[in-house]
Amino acid sequence: MTVPSAPAAPAAALGDVRFAPYWLDATPAPDPCPPLAGPTTADLAVVGAGYTGLWTALLAKEADPSLDVLVVEARTAGWAASGRNGGFCAASLTHGVLNGAERWPDEIGTLERLGRENLDAIEDTLRRHAVDCAWERTGELSVATERWQLDGLARHAATSARHGGPARLLDADETRALVDSPTYVGGLLDRSSVAMVDPARLAWGLRRACLDLGVRVVEGTPVESVARRGSALALGTPHGTVTAPRVVLATNAFRPLLRRLRSYVVPVYDYALVTEPLSPAQLASVGWAGREGVSDAGNQFHYYRLTPDDRVLWGGYDAVYHFGNRVDDSLDRNPATFARLAEHFVATFPQLDGVRFTHAWGGVIDTCSRFCVFVGSAYAGRLAYAAGFTGLGVGASRFAARAVLGRLGVPDGTSDAAQLAQLGMLRRKPLPFPPEPLRWAGIELTRRAMARADRRDGRRGPWLRALDRLGMGFDS
Ligand SMILES: Cc1cc2nc3c(=O)[nH]c(=O)nc-3n(C[C@H](O)[C@H](O)[C@H](O)COP(=O)(O)OP(=O)(O)OC[C@H]3O[C@@H](n4cnc5c(N)ncnc54)[C@H](O)[C@@H]3O)c2cc1C
Repeated sequence: MTVPSAPAAPAAALGDVRFAPYWLDATPAPDPCPPLAGPTTADLAVVGAGYTGLWTALLAKEADPSLDVLVVEARTAGWAASGRNGGFCAASLTHGVLNGAERWPDEIGTLERLGRENLDAIEDTLRRHAVDCAWERTGELSVATERWQLDGLARHAATSARHGGPARLLDADETRALVDSPTYVGGLLDRSSVAMVDPARLAWGLRRACLDLGVRVVEGTPVESVARRGSALALGTPHGTVTAPRVVLATNAFRPLLRRLRSYVVPVYDYALVTEPLSPAQLASVGWAGREGVSDAGNQFHYYRLTPDDRVLWGGYDAVYHFGNRVDDSLDRNPATFARLAEHFVATFPQLDGVRFTHAWGGVIDTCSRFCVFVGSAYAGRLAYAAGFTGLGVGASRFAARAVLGRLGVPDGTSDAAQLAQLGMLRRKPLPFPPEPLRWAGIELTRRAMARADRRDGRRGPWLRALDRLGMGFDS
């Protein structure tokens, strides 16, 4: 969104903010499982207890209850991206149909279908395991805040329609009848392909479902090394070694245990705010009766939604990379970005001027050059990994879990596992990022070029056009 005449930063609106992820603060976390207590073995060891690791463990255990599955988590399940995201659980496996159609034109129909089936299967699993994560299948409204963005929405609608997608174009009045902002000039509504969830309760619910089925979970146990041990692999931790014939790495944007992964994933920080609960009058001034997730259609975009208690979660826009793939808790706090987000919120909803923010936080996203998950294997097929969700992993993580289990030859309880193995999307990796300092310079250049394109009616300059030719450009 271009905000040419945004009001001054509403510092007062951020005056009492807590620097903590709203979701992790709103509900008490479950008691952590004890750390590993000495050496152990497992049939399948999963490193990381975010969605990817938890789905992997759950699917494997559901398919074969006799399998001894161990999840090893450095801190506590769901503390990272999985517990602090926007809670948009999307059907798309490719970060949008346009990105997928560009990269896998022959496969996109299958990928779209698999994505819809994946979202249905998530909903079904949550029902079967009585996971209460405030699941609302309200869909998503993409809004254009500049006329040039309407083209992108129209292309999205046409491509989606070719593959059975239900997205519908709206004019400005129709868009504003759903959610009322004076900045909207049009929209695209997809009622069924996205659900809103409480992300932390989703992670904790998956963890509980795993434990109920007999999956072992150890928390406070960082894996420091992977090595061969006979025909198995040994995971070194400060509390003992885990030996397993099959291992899954589900460590997302954190320092990968496999050196080769370091060139494929860069950690990028994304930030969000949450307001105090809106009063009925404030909510009525915006409309939003359908409670859709909303995102705007610029290169630098915002995503926003209502929480179960009618706060507004407002995030996105800035995406910040730190030299050398730096990841550190201190980077979760970014006052300049928080102020910018607060400004953009009031520019979008002037009728909510004066509403205060209660929470502000950041989190790290595993960005890869094709903007959607890739999988791979190592150690002669004994270890598999999935990474690269690039900010759209809430739904796709279950699909990724199926893909890594397929790599290891572990059943996932579905009938079409063999079909997944044939997908070009899952067989090929993204282009690697260059080493530093080129990496930092390239990312910084891209960020500035995207901001410039947003200011110039979407016109992509030479740098973005070069990236497009390399297949590294992103057109959301
Ligand atoms: C602010 C923000 C907003 C987002 N919004 C959305 C959204 O609305 N919709 C969407 O689809 N996606 C969104 N995402 C992205 C989404 O949250 C992620 O794609 C998804 O949670 C990835 O899950 P994961 O399990 O792969 O990773 P994570 O949740 O990051 O989990 C990885 C786990 O691995 C553990 N780990 C790492 N290294 C080790 C080790 N050596 N030993 C043991 N454990 C280790 C970590 O402690 C962590 O718990 C957002 C992300 C952020 C940060």
